[in-house]
Order: sequence, then C-alpha cells, then structure tokens
Amino acid sequence: MVRLKLHDPSVAPELVSFLRRCQCEVRHLGPTMVGVGVGHPVDPEAAAHRLQDGRCYCCGEQIELVLFRLGSPRCHDCRESSAAIPARANETWTRMEVESYLRIWRVRNPGAHVELVA
Ligand SMILES: [Zn+2]
Repeated sequence: MVRLKLHDPSVAPELVSFLRRCQCEVRHLGPTMVGVGVGHPVDPEAAAHRLQDGRCYCCGEQIELVLFRLGSPRCHDCRESSAAIPARANETWTRMEVESYLRIWRVRNPGAHVELVA
C-alpha cells in the first residue's frame, strides 16, 4: 500500500473514485491523505516486459550481465536478500502501477496536486 498526499481536500472524492475504477483498494487516511493498494499480485505480463529489458523482476534495476546470461530474473542484491523479496516486489509494483494511474489522473485534473509519499 502506498500513500498519496493531496494539496486540496476537495479533490479527494474524485481521486478516490478514479482509483477505484482502476481496481485499486483505496482507504481514507485523513482529509488530504489516501492509502492505495492494488487488488492483485504482480502482473506476469508486465513482469515479462521488464525481463525482456534485462531488468530485475523485483526492484526494476538492471540485472548484472553475467547473471542475466545465466537466466536470472533477479539482480544480485535481490538474490542475496531472497527472504525479503515478495514484500519488496509487491511494494515496487504497487508504486509503479499507482504512479501510472496518477499520470492519467493529472492529465484529467491539471490543477490538482497529488504526491506519492510512501
Ligand atoms: Zn533487484
């Protein structure tokens, strides 16, 4: 779950209903703060796209060439910290997905400021 901070509380209802239409789980954390989660696990198709670019499935960083050639879907750091992977991967994906929805929302609401805070 990531948190979004709004500069203007009056845009909150519109943002919340937009994100719900995008299949997000949205929680009100305060008048200018909403929590957003994606209601599904990592999208395999998007993960495959990442891999085609030689990027780590978990963190999105470039996979070291030698590991990539061995067929590793994860970078060196993520291989080392294998226990922490599911949570970290989900967090990264949630951020990426919410950011892409926010880009669409900003185009539709040019005056409204929303920040992704965590
Ligand atoms: Zn990684």
